[in-house]
Amino acid sequence: MTFTTRFAPSPTGPLHLGHAYSALLAHDMAQAAGGRFLLRIEDIDQGRARTDWERQIYDDLCWLGIGWETPVLRQVENLKSYRQALEKLWSIGLLYPCTCNRRDILAAASAPQEGAEIAYGPDGIVYPGTCRPEAAPTGAIPDSVALRLDMRRAVERLDANHWYFDETGAGPQGETGRITIDADNLVHEVGDVVLARRDMGTSYHLSVVVDDAAQSISHVVRGQDLFEATQIHIVLQRLLDLPSPTYHHHRLIRDADGKRLAKRDDARALALYRDQGATPQEIRQMVGLG
Ligand code: GLU
Repeated sequence: MTFTTRFAPSPTGPLHLGHAYSALLAHDMAQAAGGRFLLRIEDIDQGRARTDWERQIYDDLCWLGIGWETPVLRQVENLKSYRQALEKLWSIGLLYPCTCNRRDILAAASAPQEGAEIAYGPDGIVYPGTCRPEAAPTGAIPDSVALRLDMRRAVERLDANHWYFDETGAGPQGETGRITIDADNLVHEVGDVVLARRDMGTSYHLSVVVDDAAQSISHVVRGQDLFEATQIHIVLQRLLDLPSPTYHHHRLIRDADGKRLAKRDDARALALYRDQGATPQEIRQMVGLG
């Protein structure tokens, strides 16, 4: 299989050094393997995505010396595929509508054990199950409501003896190794994640899985901050009969105080380094790829 990887930024702010590291590393890995490097614009959050950020992403990547295959996949043009995946999961009884807002979730998660620690998963508070029905809902998918994955049912449906994903760098010599996923952890520490947000008709988890398969991604190269989310993606790949890529979760680029860089840290924006006269080679050195 041809090594195929991607860089998948959301156009909701400027690219910073962390993005540069991710994109350069993925690009370098593709080149070293004689493989393909694809770009995907993760713009499902139409309330925050902006075309001028998207243009700046193209500009910054070109400036870094990164080339990609066209056409670029823009998620907003792919909403039909996400809907099809939802239909499939709905038809096998794994989704349910949820009308809770953040405040409801916090109240329900705190209620049973006053003072006890609230469980946090990859998406925040582990959903306390307020809207989870006894029996799987039937009929058509309801509109304008969030849809959650019933994780317990999902895990029961899949073969719990084969929970793993392949990760490059996981072996003792940095070779590909196998990371085991715990089914119990999925139910209790990850829980019923949202697969379609009310305002978007999809979610990051669903879209990324559908698109990695659509783009024939063999290797996902992304930050360590998404490590915990990968188990959700593996579950979805198995439920949707999609292949699982090999994952490479890279270290995060931090600021001088050890804090992870976020998009709002505009001071680290690549565009500012460019304006101040930095060269792409200097950016490579800054992120440890020089
Ligand atoms: N769109 C995500 C981000 O902006 C990346 C998702 C991924 O690489 O799976 O960080």
